[in-house]
Amino acid sequence: MSVQQDTPSSAPARTLRVSDPRTGEVVGEYPYDGAAEVRAAVGRARGALRWWTTQGARGRKEWLLEFKRLIAGRAEDLAALISAETGKPHEDSILEVMLAVGHLEWAAKNAGKVLGRTRVPSGATMINQAAYLQYQPYGVVGVIGPWNYPLFTPMGSISYALAAGNTVVFKPSELTPGVGAWLAEAWCSLGPSGQIIEVVTGEGETGAALCDSGVDKIAFTGSAATGKKVMAACAKTLTPVVIEAGGKDAMVVAADADLDAAAEQAAFGAMGNAGQTCAGVERIYVAEEAFDAFVGKFTAIVRSLEPGNSEESSYGPMTMESQREIVSRHIADALDSGGRAVLGGRDSASGRVCAPVVLVDVPEESAAVREETFGPTVVINRVADLHEGVERANGTSYGLGGSIFTGDKTAGLEAAEMMNAGGVSVNSFLSFAAIPSLPFGGSGDSGFGRIHGADGLREFARPKAITSQRF
Ligand code: NAD
Repeated sequence: MSVQQDTPSSAPARTLRVSDPRTGEVVGEYPYDGAAEVRAAVGRARGALRWWTTQGARGRKEWLLEFKRLIAGRAEDLAALISAETGKPHEDSILEVMLAVGHLEWAAKNAGKVLGRTRVPSGATMINQAAYLQYQPYGVVGVIGPWNYPLFTPMGSISYALAAGNTVVFKPSELTPGVGAWLAEAWCSLGPSGQIIEVVTGEGETGAALCDSGVDKIAFTGSAATGKKVMAACAKTLTPVVIEAGGKDAMVVAADADLDAAAEQAAFGAMGNAGQTCAGVERIYVAEEAFDAFVGKFTAIVRSLEPGNSEESSYGPMTMESQREIVSRHIADALDSGGRAVLGGRDSASGRVCAPVVLVDVPEESAAVREETFGPTVVINRVADLHEGVERANGTSYGLGGSIFTGDKTAGLEAAEMMNAGGVSVNSFLSFAAIPSLPFGGSGDSGFGRIHGADGLREFARPKAITSQRF
């Protein structure tokens, strides 16, 4: 484990200081790991592979369930750390821990079943061969994570990679290194002979070093721009990658939808975590007939929110201060191009805690409609019906998630099928991400590959074809 709070004499001179976005107070200092430290961590993770492999699928399951119990038992501590690094209210951090724990449990319990050797029909031309399919771990997986859900998001890769039999070197975001250090130390405290989670801390340079370190796979979560750099780096050594990038998710509301439920879920999806959610609601397309009623209900809910720095706040500050500039630019662009603000306006993103902004009738070419905003700002546009809503929803370069509200279940499922997204919820928001057995991932600028569920386990294992001559 390379992360520690007390700087030893051999530690690199550069360090990474982390401040609580709510107070500015320094809450941790971590090593700035360079290429040498990253390679050393990969070497240790490779060393731990032998021990992890000898545990077998059953042993790994027991260890990971023990790890899950430890994390769940210390959820309060971990949530306090998440809040200190991101600024999100404690309740949101607790939810993040519980969701992460759910995935760890599912991955632990299902890896043996999903990846174990199975007999498959060999077909008429191969009658003398028994055919088997088996999945084998890659080896050492490098996991690069973002700051917005610093535990839940990387654990969507770490849990499945470990359960599949790999060891992991985790590079958390430079804004949230403590969460990574906490995980590595928690694993260590279980007393295993193998340290299957190594952590390296630093900025992009450390992530780049991990891509170049000889790991057997990279699981990246972050922006599309960085995802492209990661792919380019991994192309040099043909290191396989899974890319989980940003989104510009839409909710489509049909005229026959339950507007109270839609407005409530939309407010949660758009403003939760101050809008800093990859699959948050950034655009809402509402059928013309229901438009005014929906905007009224939605705006009333959002107006009642109380963003701030306290535990009771509806949402907290922007974790990454510079994100405010993007939010401000999108609001200005929406208004300059003819959109209207029915709540908030140009100055809403001037402080570290951004006030909610509700924009309506914004031209589709506007940055606020096309680019990821990642703040408490949402666009509501009118459409003729569900069909047009889905067409508009499909109009960006992203394809991560989406939601549909309608009173007609069949129409909802058909619209879900037509939506260009890796996951769609009908009459709820983002519920597919909380169900561990369902895959999560996107297309286009949202990336490729899948985490979570059986596909998530297979993402971290190679299929192997085996035949055995029948005598
Ligand atoms: P980012 O792309 O700036 O950074 C992500 C990680 O990549 C960080 O750990 C960073 O240090 C590292 N990094 C930077 N440059 C690198 C390089 N050249 N090589 C290797 N690693 C490098 O993203 P962010 O600001 O931390 O996170 C926000 C973004 O993440 C948003 O776009 C959001 O939508 C996305 N996100 C996606 C998902 C998902 O599951 N699809 C989940 C959460 C967040």
